[in-house]
Amino acid sequence: NTFQELGLNTDLLQAITDLGFTEPSEVQQKAIPILLQKETDLVALAQTGTGKTAAFGFPMLQKIAIESRTTQGLILSPTRELCLQITNEMNLYGKYCKGLNVVAIYGGASITEQARDVKRGAQIIVATPGRMKDMISRRLVDISKIEYAVLDEADEMLNMGFKEDITEILSHTPAEKNTWLFSATMPKEVASIAKNFMHNPQEITV
Ligand code: AMP
Repeated sequence: NTFQELGLNTDLLQAITDLGFTEPSEVQQKAIPILLQKETDLVALAQTGTGKTAAFGFPMLQKIAIESRTTQGLILSPTRELCLQITNEMNLYGKYCKGLNVVAIYGGASITEQARDVKRGAQIIVATPGRMKDMISRRLVDISKIEYAVLDEADEMLNMGFKEDITEILSHTPAEKNTWLFSATMPKEVASIAKNFMHNPQEITV
């Protein structure tokens, strides 16, 4: 069970070596081959601390076109702290992906600065739903070319009342994108998001 066997490219494998990750975690073993091999939606039941950020982060980094400056990946997460943590991890995982620009968008900080960072060309945006919706309505971000959307800690986002915001945000993304939903629990509300916004998702549980 090695990262190499999962099909990751040399830029990512080098970063993994630098980080000292010796073998993929269970959620990584299950999610990465699916996401690399197929264009598919995914529902993953996984707790925090299981390595889920890398489970969606590595495939996203491998599949997007880094040489393009178009925003291709969107990761929604419930809190500013998580948003910053995911951004930090994506930058570590993508440290050898030359030209990669991951931008964090969250409330309580300057919208002007975040808009400027996005405008420089962000292949990946990591966002909290409220600020993301705000920036879309002010036309400060363009997510019309998103290919991969991640709903991280979906149960938490719904608990925090972000259902409407998520719905609004997703309505600005292309129907053909792939959606990858990660959640620690699967209450009715999460199942309904999966049902309404995803197409025949592959399912994994760890
Ligand atoms: P997460 O569940 O994504 O928040 O990850 C929890 C922590 O585990 C993070 O600090 C990761 O950097 C680390 N991590 C992720 N994957 C691995 C791995 N395969 N081996 C060792 N540590 C890992």
